[in-house]
Amino acid sequence: MISMLRLVDRIAVEHKRVWRRAVASSVAGAVIQAIAYLSLFLLIPAVLEQSDDIGWLLMGLVVLLILESIVRLYELSFGYKHAADVISNLRLRLGAKLRTVPAEELSRRQSGDLSTVLAGNARDAALLAGDLGVTFVRLVIIPVALAIGLAFVDWRLLAAVLFGLVVALLGLYRFRSKMSGSVEEMHAADARSASRIVEYVQGLPVFKASGQVGAHADRLVEALEDQGEVLNRTQTSVTAPLALGSSGAHLIVVGLIAMAAALAIDGSMSVATAAAVAVVAVRLGEPLVLAGALTGVIEVTQSALRRIDEVLEIPPLPQPASPSEIEGSEVVFDGVTFSYRDQTVPAIRDMSFTLNEGSLTALVGPSGSGKSTIARTLMRYADPIEGEVRIGGTDIRDVTQSELMKHISAVFQEVYLFDDTILENVRLARPSASDDEVAAVLHAANCESLLERMPQGMHTRVGEVGGMLSGGERQRVAIARALLKDAPIVILDEPTSALDSDSEVAVQDAIDELVRHKTVLVIAHRLSTVARADQILVLEDGRIIQQGRHEELLSADGRYAAMWKAQTAAKRWKITA
Ligand code: ADP
Repeated sequence: MISMLRLVDRIAVEHKRVWRRAVASSVAGAVIQAIAYLSLFLLIPAVLEQSDDIGWLLMGLVVLLILESIVRLYELSFGYKHAADVISNLRLRLGAKLRTVPAEELSRRQSGDLSTVLAGNARDAALLAGDLGVTFVRLVIIPVALAIGLAFVDWRLLAAVLFGLVVALLGLYRFRSKMSGSVEEMHAADARSASRIVEYVQGLPVFKASGQVGAHADRLVEALEDQGEVLNRTQTSVTAPLALGSSGAHLIVVGLIAMAAALAIDGSMSVATAAAVAVVAVRLGEPLVLAGALTGVIEVTQSALRRIDEVLEIPPLPQPASPSEIEGSEVVFDGVTFSYRDQTVPAIRDMSFTLNEGSLTALVGPSGSGKSTIARTLMRYADPIEGEVRIGGTDIRDVTQSELMKHISAVFQEVYLFDDTILENVRLARPSASDDEVAAVLHAANCESLLERMPQGMHTRVGEVGGMLSGGERQRVAIARALLKDAPIVILDEPTSALDSDSEVAVQDAIDELVRHKTVLVIAHRLSTVARADQILVLEDGRIIQQGRHEELLSADGRYAAMWKAQTAAKRWKITA
């Protein structure tokens, strides 16, 4: 519980003071309530004896009531007045954070995981944790304060409280140990099924096209079933401890009343005091039962907060203290060795090559040989463990990420389109571009036929037609984006076999348009691309084993020539050996 209050404290940042005041007010409010109830020890005897003090006592109660209301105002101010601000600031901070962390960190996490943190966790955590925190503080402080008061009335009453408390805590302890494991498991299952949903929906066009909507739902259904099962298991396992916890709380009430009755019969306590004990006992047990019932929600909230905290704690990519600018587009890999986190073998090793300004370099090699890793290293997916990547002579670690991204356009096979219009999806490459400019690049990227099918042309939302965009069309939209950005360096992962032949020609034309006069790095899958490249890098196991132009490599009679011979018979340039 304390850790939850602390987590909110960290997340609240600029609202920290309001939050601390809310918690302090909650404590004060609880103490005031306890004092009000404890005043029964004076009030009940006064009523029985018809003493003159009743008036004063009642007035005292009214004062306490007013104080309580004032304190309550502060207590609620965090949840009701500031929570919305805290949430939006939190999301902005999470967003800012995600921009500075290495892309490697992001891809290590499943997309569903991050979206639950950003969308769900952030809201639930800030909203719930705020309200829950102050409520829980109250629910704990009231019984504690009442118990202390009772100890002053007669120390033997404390024995009854302690006995019930031990039982309640035992239940609570069991509950927490069962729950804390399950909550993590539940979150993992939630994240898994969220990722599967994203994956499934994004893949729908392909599944539909290949008539396999049902078959590919298996992974999704499995994840959803697993999610249900985890929830079920958790609920079942915590039922008994929860019941034990609330029995403990009830034991306190019964124990106190029994003890007071015994003391009254014994003559060591007045009947009036015993009556007050009974009333206070009920008031003491009630919050404890409630607190027990809330533990589950608290556990879930706390876990959500922890996940947010984890994202906020990811170390960012080191940023230069005084950033340089990039001039020119010559790319140099100088002795670059890159290793993915948690991998012992580097994915690319001691790699040195130059992409001359305006040249086209094709990367070829079997799957897993390091082609994508080269592309990622150039985009500073994460930093290499040795060597450096320079653009126009500047180490890419000496420039800001946004400066680097200004100089690179990338078109990968998987194209992500936001649920916005086609226009805006393209414009995000250069937000200042006019509608006409976007229309021009869509035209240049061969998107005409695609736009003709859209009810409102480029103003059609992608979400409305998500299933109608083929792989080739999505890729052309991505190329239009890259054209609009007009960066001097282009990284291209050539489409493999997923396209139909019409699409293929259209995409190829669009690509030709994109790479004109640019410094280009292609992960090549096409004979034509490889044959016309200014430079081919043949990769194997993260190393360059051959380098040169097509004719040179063919006559060298090495690995490349062997692959070429084996593959020319096949329709497509696809190196698998
Ligand atoms: P290619 O693009 O030629 O298929 P990659 O660059 O993707 O090759 O992969 C090079 C090596 O790095 C492979 O051994 C692959 O398993 C490994 N690798 C690729 N991506 C990751 C990743 N995200 N995490 C860990 N290892 C990876």
